[in-house]
Amino acid sequence: MLTPVIDEDGAPFWEYAARGELRVQSCADCGELRFPPRPCCPHCRSFASAWRLMSGRGRIWSYVLPHPPLLPEYAAQAPYNAVLVELVDAPRIRLVGNVVAAPGAPLNSVDPGRLRIGAPVRVAFTEVDGLAVPRWLLERG
Ligand SMILES: [Zn+2]
Repeated sequence: MLTPVIDEDGAPFWEYAARGELRVQSCADCGELRFPPRPCCPHCRSFASAWRLMSGRGRIWSYVLPHPPLLPEYAAQAPYNAVLVELVDAPRIRLVGNVVAAPGAPLNSVDPGRLRIGAPVRVAFTEVDGLAVPRWLLERG
């Protein structure tokens, strides 16, 4: 599997993820949330930041079902999904991920026919090569 490359700005995201917390960087001056993490607030240009705890709930904003050609490790798991999740707590923040049937389940564990734009999801962290990676579970209803 490809694992995320952790840079200085994004390191806190992964440290919180390792504790099972989904946090998004926010500006310590104006309070605006931003993602992906970066040093400067695009709204007020402040360099002061904090990490705000999210509920972990979201909605599928969009998704794709990648088709070949795929990298070999992904080809073995096709058909799988790649989703953009809009966070309920921060509707302008969208995270890329995968919907799976259960924490730790493979990428192809959800029938693509069950995916719908707008479907409610919640985060579940899965360990991939020693890193806690956020994945998404479909909520009922
Ligand atoms: Zn700001």
